[in-house]
Amino acid sequence: MTQSATIPAQPAYSEAARKVIGRKPQLFINGDWVDSSHDALIEVEDPSSGKVIAHVVDASGKDVERAVAAARSAFDDGRWSNMPPMERERIMIRLADLLHDHADELAELEAIDNGKPKGIATVVDIPAAISEIRYMAGWAGKLTGETAAPYAMPGEQVFGYTVREPVGVCVQIVPWNFPLLMACQKIAPALAAGCTLILKPAEQTPLTALRLADLVAEAGFPAGVVNILTGYGETAGDLLVRHPDVDKVAFTGSTDVGKAIRRNATDTMKRITLELGGKSPVIVMPDADVKQAAKGAASAIFFNSGQVCVAGSRLFAHRSIFDSVLEGISTAAPRWTPRPALDPAAQMGPLVSAEQLDRVMGYIAAGKRDGASVVTGGDSPAGDGYFVNPTVLADVNPQMSVVREEIFGPVVVAQRFDDLDEVAKAANDTAYGLGAGVWTRDLSTMHKLASKIKAGTIWGNCHAAIDPALPFGGYKQSGIGREQGRQGIEPYLETKTVILQL
Ligand code: NAD
Repeated sequence: MTQSATIPAQPAYSEAARKVIGRKPQLFINGDWVDSSHDALIEVEDPSSGKVIAHVVDASGKDVERAVAAARSAFDDGRWSNMPPMERERIMIRLADLLHDHADELAELEAIDNGKPKGIATVVDIPAAISEIRYMAGWAGKLTGETAAPYAMPGEQVFGYTVREPVGVCVQIVPWNFPLLMACQKIAPALAAGCTLILKPAEQTPLTALRLADLVAEAGFPAGVVNILTGYGETAGDLLVRHPDVDKVAFTGSTDVGKAIRRNATDTMKRITLELGGKSPVIVMPDADVKQAAKGAASAIFFNSGQVCVAGSRLFAHRSIFDSVLEGISTAAPRWTPRPALDPAAQMGPLVSAEQLDRVMGYIAAGKRDGASVVTGGDSPAGDGYFVNPTVLADVNPQMSVVREEIFGPVVVAQRFDDLDEVAKAANDTAYGLGAGVWTRDLSTMHKLASKIKAGTIWGNCHAAIDPALPFGGYKQSGIGREQGRQGIEPYLETKTVILQL
């Protein structure tokens, strides 16, 4: 069954969005908008129309040097790390307030740039970005060391304590799927800890990061504390990762690039955190509320066109309810029929780029070749943008690429199971371990699966819920370290031990 239809045109942009899109390509370094050292530019597309709408700087090696030098001196002279934490917190809260004031414009820019529906960016991306900053701002004044009584030395002669210090200059590289949210998730803990930073947005989605730079300037951060560079990963990103004056790299993106970054950051022994890919299972147990579970499974994979690191891309439904769950997802699918991002009725937009469209359609074709059957979707509707219909594949086996690899599109593979141990084993049969959703009304089943599944987050009767106070990150090849919560600020801190002979 397919849902092909012609996609309507993307509605007109607002005046505010056109102003941002039409601005001169520049970089935000040392508190100022500056020209690049060369003329190279990156084209920015609207994935709802496939048209080039803007150009941003393709940062050069010299631009990278300039940004790192600015962040280095802003860190070394203590203009941020020695500022009273109350002041740091105040400036961060001011930034959160400014994001709030510009929420509508930011949601539109995100929709134009990434292709996600503006309505979704308004209720998900922008408020979540703001709450990341508000939450982490609160940590600025609560970072303390401890005194520890010596164990092998006499306490009367030795006094020991620890202090927490910011790690230094941070490079923060983010992907295109939640551009502003990922950017804020990165800068917030670094700033609260007293670090300075260089943020590099994905080349596909730089617009909200550039607006963020305006708001950083307005919020009153000292020059050089936040620097924002647009550029390609293999050039600017790589130079940043290898730079000897950088102390830490925080990266969110694909597992392959994460592995390369880890290798490239090793020579200078940089601190590193990696938030990488996933192939998250959604498990529907026989006692679940099937209607709710099917609806939840549909949004677990179709939300953000499946371009979500924790997308529920492997569905496991108990044999006794398998057909009803699939029927429920197929019934829910039309709600996710893709539309242009600025269409008020849009629930799901296009994929981010032509490259991503080819990749996802390539996986669907491979799945069909390998013997999978298409329950719903499987095609790309006619139109100029990069649209794929919500797709469910059945009759799959664990060897197929559609089951093993991260597709990063609105494509779910559905499999049957008979008992809890079998499904836990199947769920863990992956190189990834980012998230898992479990649908059951039985508390004991829930806890058993939460314990057996190797993933950074387990959701019960929901999927992909995140909160700034709750740590997020991956097991296995889904990453290293955690973001959010107290654990999220730790990677931005060193521990110094002081031992005094009395
Ligand atoms: P990507 O790895 O291609 O790119 C991510 C960023 O890395 C971009 O800014 C890019 O310019 C940069 N980059 C690329 N090569 C680089 C290099 N050699 N050195 C330094 N920087 C480099 O990923 P993507 O396609 O933009 O994003 C999709 C991936 O991100 C998916 O795998 C998804 O699962 C993952 N992701 C993970 C999380 C998480 O929290 N775990 C969240 C969102 C996305």
